[in-house]
Amino acid sequence: MAQRRIAIIGSGFSGLCLGIQLKKAGIDSFTIFEKSDRLGGTWRDNTYPGAACDVPAFLYCFSFEQKTDWSRLWSPQEEIQDYMEHCARKYDLVRHLRFGTEIAGARFDAGAGVWRLRTTGGEEIVADVLVSAVGQLNRPAIPAIPGLDRFRGACFHSARWDHGADLAGKRVGVIGNAASAIQLIPQIAPRVRHLSIFQRSANWMLPRGDRAYTERERRWLARFPLFAWLHRWSIWLRLELRFPIMRKNRFFAWMARRAAEKNLRAQVADPRLRAALTPDYPIGGKRILISDDYYPTLARDNVEVVTDGIAQLSEDAVVTRDGRVHPVDAVILATGFQTTAFLAPMRIAGLDGRSLDAEWADGARAYRGIAVSGFPNLFLMYGPNTNLGHNSIIFMIECQTRYILGAIRTLIERDLAYLDLSRSVMEADDARTQAALAGTVWAATDKSWYKTEKGRITNNWSGSTVRYWWITRRFDGERYRARAREPVVYPATAPADTLEARPAPDAAGSAA
Ligand SMILES: Cc1cc2nc3c(=O)[nH]c(=O)nc-3n(C[C@H](O)[C@H](O)[C@H](O)COP(=O)(O)OP(=O)(O)OC[C@H]3O[C@@H](n4cnc5c(N)ncnc54)[C@H](O)[C@@H]3O)c2cc1C
Repeated sequence: MAQRRIAIIGSGFSGLCLGIQLKKAGIDSFTIFEKSDRLGGTWRDNTYPGAACDVPAFLYCFSFEQKTDWSRLWSPQEEIQDYMEHCARKYDLVRHLRFGTEIAGARFDAGAGVWRLRTTGGEEIVADVLVSAVGQLNRPAIPAIPGLDRFRGACFHSARWDHGADLAGKRVGVIGNAASAIQLIPQIAPRVRHLSIFQRSANWMLPRGDRAYTERERRWLARFPLFAWLHRWSIWLRLELRFPIMRKNRFFAWMARRAAEKNLRAQVADPRLRAALTPDYPIGGKRILISDDYYPTLARDNVEVVTDGIAQLSEDAVVTRDGRVHPVDAVILATGFQTTAFLAPMRIAGLDGRSLDAEWADGARAYRGIAVSGFPNLFLMYGPNTNLGHNSIIFMIECQTRYILGAIRTLIERDLAYLDLSRSVMEADDARTQAALAGTVWAATDKSWYKTEKGRITNNWSGSTVRYWWITRRFDGERYRARAREPVVYPATAPADTLEARPAPDAAGSAA
């Protein structure tokens, strides 16, 4: 049985997870293409001061490679990056990684039953199976603020932190007040002369309750796997119990809102500031933030929350719509990511040359967030409708890995050329997902990174993580159209023994 050449695009948690499980399954014929020069994805890119996970670290790692010596409950970025590099070394992934290789696009060659990938450098790579593991939060969103290019001071995005920029004693403007901003602001506020936070809308925030793991805890977690297992899954359960908030359960939403309001009251004394920090959308509609030090930081004399919209940037100031000029030496764009253009800017063409952009003209969609009809042997990780507002993405990534591995096994065991999802299955699944999403708090919230401009929720999963696990627990090959491999035609003069052997597929490029 011939193995399949598998091309994985991206070396974040998704790409690594699939690579590890392929190795464990004895499949070695894969390459992980990474545009950057280091693995890690989110955790390589987000090096801003205070960067840390916002799901407890004990759950924010692979279940099959439980790290038991996290320094803190919510561990810092460096530790997560180290963990990922440890995984790559331990599972022998390093030789499968090809850095500095950005995939510009891929075209399905139906005749040969292969994907032809093209790098930005012009190289062609042939693969039987293509897996996109490019993440949802990989491309920074740069706001279209007039005058942004005119500003003369340091100006950078939180996910591209300029470590050479010295902020000490400077007047700094932070545009944005969501997950990254609330982590970095408490870190830089004590160092800068003045900090202006430009807030478009307030966010719900709960206390984080962060602390270091004690030596004793770490010893016990390392020594008693059952203890570690219970710790991991108790965190998962605690987070999962937040899911009813997303489904607009009145009691759970009331509890969460009460906790957030109490947190705000306890930490912010000024009633006007409290009013400015109170969101006007239901709790859970946007990511619920967790922090112990953001609200106290706002009470500092050198910190100001500006709620008037930004009109423009001048050479040395941010000008708000009320005409106020806020002089700044540096501007930090904590403005999030381009989240709804999945797989962009790659150009993907499936059967009959149909482009994924055309397929997704009304918003991205995929069966289980993984497969798209008309794009055979293409599988997505952390794809459309697989983000969570309440639990760890790594749980979802492990589910997707299991499912994709099932598909690859099916291809190998049944000696198939390709598997193409039935269109009616995809459409019915999408209709179900969107109907379920219509009853969520995200639908009741005007704008968020979970939705397109037109209001379609493209990012979030509609159900609990248990449900996602259930529907991805095995590869449901019966929902796919399977095409057998073409019988190989040999020249009449070929020696008899080669007629027995099925030659390895055309080995152009190097997906393996
Ligand atoms: C600051 C921050 C904190 C977060 N905290 C949490 C948390 O606490 N809990 C949680 O569950 N989730 C969190 N997330 C979400 C996080 O993105 C996911 O948990 C997870 O890291 C996604 O992994 P990934 O491998 O799917 O994608 P990424 O980590 O985004 O990796 C994608 C990789 O693909 C590469 N790539 C992209 N395009 C190409 C191309 N064309 N060619 C080659 N390579 C390409 C990128 O360079 C990158 O390395 C956080 C996100 C951010 C930004």
